Amino acid sequence: LEGELQHAQKLESLGSLAGGVAHDMNNILAAIIALGSTLQAQYAGDAALARALETILSAGERGRKLVRGLTDFARKGLEDPRPVDLNEVVRRQIELLHGTTLARVEIATHLDPGLPAVLGEPSSIANALMNLCVNALDAMPQGGALDLRTGVDGEGWVEMAVSDTGQGMAPDVVERAMEPFFTTKAVGKGTGLGLAGVYGTMKAHGGSMEIRSQVGQGTRVTLRFPATAGPGPAGPGTEEAGAEDPG
Ligand code: ADP
Repeated sequence: LEGELQHAQKLESLGSLAGGVAHDMNNILAAIIALGSTLQAQYAGDAALARALETILSAGERGRKLVRGLTDFARKGLEDPRPVDLNEVVRRQIELLHGTTLARVEIATHLDPGLPAVLGEPSSIANALMNLCVNALDAMPQGGALDLRTGVDGEGWVEMAVSDTGQGMAPDVVERAMEPFFTTKAVGKGTGLGLAGVYGTMKAHGGSMEIRSQVGQGTRVTLRFPATAGPGPAGPGTEEAGAEDPG
């Protein structure tokens, strides 16, 4: 338990640092990108300059992506929370996956039909789920089984879990997986901001995330949300339900 507390404190202080850097970096990148775009429009005729500006702008965009990842990790609260039906988030994710997934990955879903809505940001939750699915698929280059499920646990938390039958993670990898920039993937492949972003998103939702993994067996990541939006999926008239400040 002490280890867990230390781990939480480490992530907390990394979060404050990341939030500060991300804010300043955002302004710096905004200036670079705005001026770069202006110059690009002005000097379109100069091929060498145009190429240089192209490089500056794409580096700026890469920087922006990193900053966005850091911002997700460091975030504290929600913007515009509303009732979210996690089953619907999973269904949309499955549609996206069917367009892209390798044939050798079998996808299964187990959705609790009575799942209570959660109060949150649909797009951040969808983004978190996408990150978990990308990791799961990355862990199964030879194929395997991807399982997405929703449910309510014994304490009333609303869960959404992604399981894979991939390579799994050693305990020291599990330990560090949520830290920003921690990655075991090849340079240029992993940013190490996926799970950090999911962690920040869950914190902002007043929830939590848990990673269970076994090398050679697979991994399950469970996201837990407080069930604050009242029973049943979001529908007309439920907009105000549980609209108090999440923290
Ligand atoms: P990235 O995917 O860019 O490496 P993440 O923060 O999403 O960054 O993941 C950090 C690390 O955690 C990965 O590099 C990988 O080692 C490990 N990891 C995450 N998800 C899984 C998974 N489903 N199976 C095995 N390893 C995983």
